[in-house]
Amino acid sequence: MGFEEVIGHEKQKGLLLSFLKHERMPHAFLFSGQDGIGKKKTAVEFAKHILCEHGTGCGACRACARIDRGTHPDLMILSKQEGEASIGIDLIRGNEEKKVRGVNQEVYEYPYEGKKRVIIIDGAEDLTREAANALLKTLEEPPPFNVFFLITASEEELPHTIRSRCSRIFFTALRQEQLRRYFADVLSIDGHHAETLSSISFGSIGAGVFWNEKENFEMRKRLAELVTGKHKSFINATLLSQRITKNIDGVSIYLSFLLSLFRDIFVLNIYQDSSMIMNRDIREILELGRVDLRWIEESVKRIQETIRIMRYNVNKWLIFENLLLHIMRHV
Ligand SMILES: [Zn+2]
Repeated sequence: MGFEEVIGHEKQKGLLLSFLKHERMPHAFLFSGQDGIGKKKTAVEFAKHILCEHGTGCGACRACARIDRGTHPDLMILSKQEGEASIGIDLIRGNEEKKVRGVNQEVYEYPYEGKKRVIIIDGAEDLTREAANALLKTLEEPPPFNVFFLITASEEELPHTIRSRCSRIFFTALRQEQLRRYFADVLSIDGHHAETLSSISFGSIGAGVFWNEKENFEMRKRLAELVTGKHKSFINATLLSQRITKNIDGVSIYLSFLLSLFRDIFVLNIYQDSSMIMNRDIREILELGRVDLRWIEESVKRIQETIRIMRYNVNKWLIFENLLLHIMRHV
């Protein structure tokens, strides 16, 4: 019910509620922080607090129920459409021919049911330049009954002009213990696996859910085997890259995993202490004896570079394969 549904982020929730309580709500928020930690969830649950018939985000009234079903007329949620590379101008300005109503048209109408309208733009960095400029006009002179939530994991990609119009709230990664409890209690994952997931998910519920898929979890192991050259894997770099890049959202999680893998190899080399590593479940694969530290350093650079170019590049398969060919340990 409302904020009780959101794991962690106590300070952020407290701040939002105090805006609401003192009726001093900024007209636009920027929720910034890594993927998968509950920024959108916080915005949607806060929308309940704003639109709830009892003003509490009760979860039971008509307004709260309609938010849960995604049918509340005063809650707009925008994001990149499936298969699209960006959030285009039509969604902001509207397009009569295509019968699309845009945010900029909507905001001048009075809310249908409540006193406020909530507009959530999930993945605001995906706005095209055109769309961002059109939105900026509205953010500069917003009709008073609207509250915007721009959600992003890469705020530096948003135009400064947009950022400066928003009250920024920064979300930090969840603590490992919060994640473990969530996986065990809410997702009913067994204790040992919940512990493993919480350790390899970089504070992100989204990443934990991703690794909870058996196929992804297995692929992670294959990837580790391939990169370390520890076991001659039955699967080669080309095939593995193809499988990994099939799911676009998953690619960045695999890249983060590769970074953590090299961090672990480094830690094992320097301290010989496996209690300090993140990927404890595949410890045997990462124990390589003495390794050339230049290999670790070069590989980390390559992975970081790949993370940067991956966003703008269509051929993710090729880029990922190219990365693997460079960082694979040859023994
Ligand atoms: Zn309610």
